[in-house]
Amino acid sequence: MRLDNETHELDLVAKAFQIISREISYQGLAKALLMEALSYSGASRGAILLSGQRELLAKADASFPRERANFLASFPPHAEFRLPSDLAEEVLDRKQTVVRQAGAESSALIDPANPPSGKIAQLCLPLIHQHWAIGVLYLEADGDAEIFTPRCVWVTSMLANQAAVSFESVRLFEALRETNMWMVRGQQIGGMGSYRWNTRTLLSRGSRECYRILDIDLDVNPVPFEVFRSRVHPEDYPALEQDLTEAISTKSPFTHEYRVIHRDGKTLHVVAVGQFDEGPTGDLELEGIITDVSQRKAAEQALADARNELARATGLTSLGELAGSIIHEIDQPLTGMIMSAEACLRWLARDPVQAAEARKSVARIIRQARRAAEVVTGVRSLVRGTQVHFAEFDINDAVAEVLLLSNREIERAGVIVRTDFDRSSPRVEADRVQVQQVALNLVRNAIEAMAGVEDGNRILALSSGVADGMISVAIADTGGGISPADRERVFETLYTTKGAGLGLGLSICRKIVKLHGGQLWVEENGRCGAKFTFALPLRQAVQTSESR
Ligand code: ADP
Repeated sequence: MRLDNETHELDLVAKAFQIISREISYQGLAKALLMEALSYSGASRGAILLSGQRELLAKADASFPRERANFLASFPPHAEFRLPSDLAEEVLDRKQTVVRQAGAESSALIDPANPPSGKIAQLCLPLIHQHWAIGVLYLEADGDAEIFTPRCVWVTSMLANQAAVSFESVRLFEALRETNMWMVRGQQIGGMGSYRWNTRTLLSRGSRECYRILDIDLDVNPVPFEVFRSRVHPEDYPALEQDLTEAISTKSPFTHEYRVIHRDGKTLHVVAVGQFDEGPTGDLELEGIITDVSQRKAAEQALADARNELARATGLTSLGELAGSIIHEIDQPLTGMIMSAEACLRWLARDPVQAAEARKSVARIIRQARRAAEVVTGVRSLVRGTQVHFAEFDINDAVAEVLLLSNREIERAGVIVRTDFDRSSPRVEADRVQVQQVALNLVRNAIEAMAGVEDGNRILALSSGVADGMISVAIADTGGGISPADRERVFETLYTTKGAGLGLGLSICRKIVKLHGGQLWVEENGRCGAKFTFALPLRQAVQTSESR
């Protein structure tokens, strides 16, 4: 019979052990220990007080109100646990187990709904882990019966010891989980995933971020090489394979940049780095980091585009500069031609006629005329042969950039600039550089037109607006204006009223605007000055380069 009892008891204890060791949270563990201890001992109330960190509970106040404890489990659940100072001293300072059979003066558990009456028995023992008292297990029973027998105390303290070890595991587990969370978040923020690839089995394991970057489902673990390979951009795979093979054969550090294609078609740019070592199985493994550099790539591309645009804009030179260089290039041969012709006339006027010298002069004239013709051909091809590049852009930004470019001229000319842009941020599909050339030319004309105006009255007003599928930009000045009779003539090729003018600017501007399916016109700007407006369609029908 006694043997039966003992077997039954052992069963109970083993079960209690199992229940306790299954718990992976402080709360769960505290509750499990309390319930097992209550059920084994037959006590009616109890509490567990735990310290979250490794601080010594003994150092804390002798009584532990609920808010001082990191974790508290009690039964009944709402009871307040106040460990009397004498018990605290005994249990926490001296790490002693205290048993008070039916003689305790007061309960340590205050349950307002059910105040204790009569005598009670108490069992209080420390939860010890590696010499630290990490908590207290307190049990209480009503009446006189000696329920906390030496055997009961012994089994309960075994449960408590087992629980103390589990508490420590939970603490480590939580610490590990926290560290892991930091790592996961850090990898997420940096767009970086870590991986380990077995070069023999070709299977790899990776962090969560690695799965995101490669668009692989988390339940694919380990990842077969074929799955990884299916994500690599087909154009980039051969180079990656070659680099990998080389790195494996020399066991040298590996770095490779390639594109990854997600199942939804999204493309990422990634950089993988790694180094080789022997894995736990003795196989050669590549351990490393894969970084999503798509954003960096996009930024680099945008920068390169901006640089190209700038190079194009400055390389093509503004129309004003172009005019300047044409004048210079043509002026020289023209002056030379006049001089040679005059010399020729002089040789012919001699008596006898100096035919040989005259011939030389004519030959020089021909050479210089050819040079001038070459310049004209060059300019023509420059104007015509410009590559047109249609793309969507913000017209306000483009015009603002032109103002920025003209800043020095504007300041030098003492011009006041006013802008009134349509803030709906209208986007237009056009050749940005060419549209900027138009705006630049109109701005320069406006500045020149105001040269004779007195200080403070030179106002350049730029505005934009959208109407009927067209976006218009107006550039108005307070200069001399253009008489109604000349309003169409100004757009004619070679029409100019300026001493050094070429009369090309407005005709080219109109041509560019027309090629974009738009219009360029001029009207009076209030009482004085001219207002040039160009309107472009918001969207372009795609045109072939020949049709431009
Ligand atoms: P250029 O500037 O070389 O003369 P354009 O084709 O740009 O060639 O301009 C042609 C002519 O139109 C100018 O010479 C000038 O008489 C007139 N013009 C252009 N813009 C303005 C303006 N904002 N105000 C008054 N006249 C202008």
